[in-house]
Amino acid sequence: MSAGGAGGFGLDHLPYGVFSVAGGERRIGVRFGDGSGDWVVDLHAATGRPEFAEPSLNAFLALGPEVWRQTREQAGELAASGEHAVPLDEATLHRPFEVADYVDFYASLDHATNVGRILRPDSEPLLPNWRHLPVGYHGRAGTVVPSGTPITRPSGQRRGPGEVAPTFGPSRRLDIEAELGFVVGVPSPIGTPVPFSGFGDHVFGVVGLNDWSARDIQAWEYQPLGPFLGKSFATSVSHWVTPMAALEAAWCDLPAQEPEPLPYLGPGAVRGLDIDVEVLLDGEVVSRPPFRTMYWSPAQLLAHLTVNGASLRTGDLFASGTISGPERDQRGSLLELSWGGREPFVAGGRERTFLEDGDEVVLRYSALGTGGGRITLGEVAGRIVPAG
Ligand code: MN
Repeated sequence: MSAGGAGGFGLDHLPYGVFSVAGGERRIGVRFGDGSGDWVVDLHAATGRPEFAEPSLNAFLALGPEVWRQTREQAGELAASGEHAVPLDEATLHRPFEVADYVDFYASLDHATNVGRILRPDSEPLLPNWRHLPVGYHGRAGTVVPSGTPITRPSGQRRGPGEVAPTFGPSRRLDIEAELGFVVGVPSPIGTPVPFSGFGDHVFGVVGLNDWSARDIQAWEYQPLGPFLGKSFATSVSHWVTPMAALEAAWCDLPAQEPEPLPYLGPGAVRGLDIDVEVLLDGEVVSRPPFRTMYWSPAQLLAHLTVNGASLRTGDLFASGTISGPERDQRGSLLELSWGGREPFVAGGRERTFLEDGDEVVLRYSALGTGGGRITLGEVAGRIVPAG
């Protein structure tokens, strides 16, 4: 194989995943693409390390930054040599890690402002706490599914506009949220906050993430304790985990924070990632949310998540919240793209608002790699199937 980086999966990327071949045991591999094809390097066959014979990345993630660094170096040599490489199209891909706890934030100023304007048109779009802390909620780890898993339209209580009482039935406002997820490798003890400077000691990498959301169920249930059944039915993540080491060239300054956050959240912590996102609805790009416009930085999210002494576990997943930029075609949810369903957008030559049965949504991500070209992060796909 050559060292070239065809398709954004060159030697400067090397994302990790879990694969099997012909119904065999699951094991750990890194993806590599060159001019001759796409490959998965079988890390267990190549190194004999027992953590790579596991059906999830967790045991490897727990080993920490020094082993991550050594393994990345080794994986690069293996990919370049072509040894222990399985053709990608012969591999079945699985959920890459066992999700411990799942947290979802709300870190985009444009998204939070848009949602405030849509849902509470008569009041300030941002609630008083928003610029002081990264708002978040604890989600449901057990329903995090890998890319390609069909998404069954959820049923529940929903109260439509103008209706006095709720009714039960399939969601009529099924939506997406284009997000980025951060994967924790190294745990932390209960009672000890992780400072924002500890991000690199604990966080292994990122996944693409779609936080499927039933807006009608959500709107009826979310006050006063936040999202519950409107979100917990499914969250999709990419098959591939891109290590933070592959994103070293993608760090950028985020927009200024005003007012200055409390000391545990910075200052000096507002470094974000310049990652481009594309939202495809049935194959057509309907939005291009820019991750560089997020308000709260990844390290601030982690610092806030643990500031009360909550511990981290290997496999914890914390997501950014919907990524939306300031422009109309940078909105990361259909709620925003259709402005609450009141202003349909055009896709596939017709007017659209929320998801219909049979729709397929694909999220794509790319960023500047350390080799000067662009790397392609793992995509997240899901198709809507009718309520059971
Ligand atoms: Mn979300």
